Amino acid sequence: MIVFSTVSKLFDDEYALQDVSLTVEPGELVMITGPSGSGKTTFMRLLTREYKPTTGEILFDSIPLSKISAGQIHHHRRKIGVIFQDYKLLPELNVWENIALALSIIGTKDDEIERRVTDLLDLVSLTDKAFHFPIQLSGGEAQRVSIARALSTAPKVIFADEPTGNLDSTASKNIILLLKKINSLGTTVLITTHNHDVQKWLGETRHI
Ligand code: ADP
Ligand code: MG
Repeated sequence: MIVFSTVSKLFDDEYALQDVSLTVEPGELVMITGPSGSGKTTFMRLLTREYKPTTGEILFDSIPLSKISAGQIHHHRRKIGVIFQDYKLLPELNVWENIALALSIIGTKDDEIERRVTDLLDLVSLTDKAFHFPIQLSGGEAQRVSIARALSTAPKVIFADEPTGNLDSTASKNIILLLKKINSLGTTVLITTHNHDVQKWLGETRHI
């Protein structure tokens, strides 16, 4: 599903990533660790084509990212749900609207939006907070909204970039177990982290 072949990314005269080759198969759950500055976020941005590799090629679903035209990038990005350390919810929209936004942008019918958002709120156990605004949520709740939002358009891959970076241990564990559940329901999941407990909570899993 994801293939990096000898991918390097140079910023000015320093490598953020050098000669990275790896394959991620559909349905995998992969933990990516490395110290701050080791290139984890760069890896994500190469995958979403926010960055282009300096050398090497990336394939997503057998499509070389270098061949995707500017007009088709949004189509590629919809296949990858991204989760950030700082949630990036829109403060002026409530939980329901944050999750529904991407669906309305792509022209999903209202009854389909209603059905999907209801299911996603149930999945992340936030049905009772549907009409709260981000400022009224705990960090763990905000991250669960961002996971529901990332899943709204049914992406093939979820990329969670240090999803527990701002959370306490209990909330972190809940987020990791939720990502594990999402993986077990069929979505490919990549998680970057430098929290050692994450490995423990994930159990036996691939580690890059
Ligand atoms: P991580 O997410 O593992 O902490 P990053 O991918 O953010 O690491 O960064 C890897 C290296 O690339 C760092 O040295 C960082 O300063 C550099 N870098 C990342 N993005 C940019 C950018 N847009 N411009 C210049 N340097 C960057
Ligand atoms: Mg990072």
